[in-house]
Amino acid sequence: MMIKQIKTPRQFSFVVALILALLSISVSLFVQFLFEHSISFLRLIIVGSICFLLSYFVIHYFLEKLITSKIRLLYRVIHSNEDRSVAIDLKMENDVLGEAEREVMSWGKEKREQIEKLKVQEEFRREFLGNLAHELKTPIFSIQGYILTLLEGGLEDEKINRKFLERANKGVDRIAKVVEDLDLITEIESGRITLKLQSINIVELVQDVLDSFEIKANRKDVKLILNADYESLNVLCDRDKIEQVLINLINNSINYGKKDGFTKVNLLDMEGHVMIEVEDDGIGISSKDQERLFERFYRVDKSRARHEGGTGLGLSIVKHIIEAHQQTISVRSQIGKGAIFYFSLKKA
Ligand code: ADP
Repeated sequence: MMIKQIKTPRQFSFVVALILALLSISVSLFVQFLFEHSISFLRLIIVGSICFLLSYFVIHYFLEKLITSKIRLLYRVIHSNEDRSVAIDLKMENDVLGEAEREVMSWGKEKREQIEKLKVQEEFRREFLGNLAHELKTPIFSIQGYILTLLEGGLEDEKINRKFLERANKGVDRIAKVVEDLDLITEIESGRITLKLQSINIVELVQDVLDSFEIKANRKDVKLILNADYESLNVLCDRDKIEQVLINLINNSINYGKKDGFTKVNLLDMEGHVMIEVEDDGIGISSKDQERLFERFYRVDKSRARHEGGTGLGLSIVKHIIEAHQQTISVRSQIGKGAIFYFSLKKA
């Protein structure tokens, strides 16, 4: 009970010195009684006081030396990345051991969290490299196949030489697109890209991007609709980057939309913001897939997505660009009922 209440080295020295003093008084009492048959209280008090003071200072001195040397080492290990010359102030009237225990516990917790984070990063890195290798493998093997056929005599065959070269070139284009997309993501992630914010008319920009998809949409009989009650709505953004976002979203809505369907861009004037929605009536996305959609290389239907010419990086780029504008992008969708991707931009 008593031991539990002792918190500081000073209290410990005091209690032990007191016990030793009481012991010395008892021994002295016994000796006086045995050999002198009389008791001198003055001598008892002197013996007790000397014993108390001596024990107190000796115990305190060695305890301080021991604790300081051990705990200093502990603190040095814990704060290894900090300046070693900083003096660690250990006061014996404080609960130094308790404090050290708490420090070690929180250090341990921090380390455990760091390890967890590293494990997640490691997993992410492994998955990323696997995806990248997989992504590049298909076009590389197809290019290799065409080149080998050409080398083994195809070059002289008028019927196939041009066709095979064009196909090989398509493969090269695909690799270039993956590398370009990855490069853009890395640039935004590393903060190397600074947004060139300017005031632009978002109605005009959306109309321009929709116009650029006319041929592709016609081929699939997809109707392109701009749904805005305004001629002009000015937002603050990096024009090229937001154009890229609109291209990726509208391109997806046509790719994963249905024949004879529609792609609609809704512009809504909110207080201080403009909400931009890209809507389609296509195949839709399950809620399970919606959670992972913005990850690099994530695809719902692998074969279909690749067939549509996507790299699996489009939405990841979109997310990075919107987040660089300090906004968020979300999706509402149900399987078979189309999808709506929406984000906001600050009004200029
Ligand atoms: P991809 O290059 O494969 O299109 P994205 O990152 O743009 O890559 O999209 C990731 C996946 O999300 C796509 O493969 C597709 O499965 C799904 N997806 C994206 N947009 C839509 C949409 N409008 N409707 C249905 N699925 C979509």
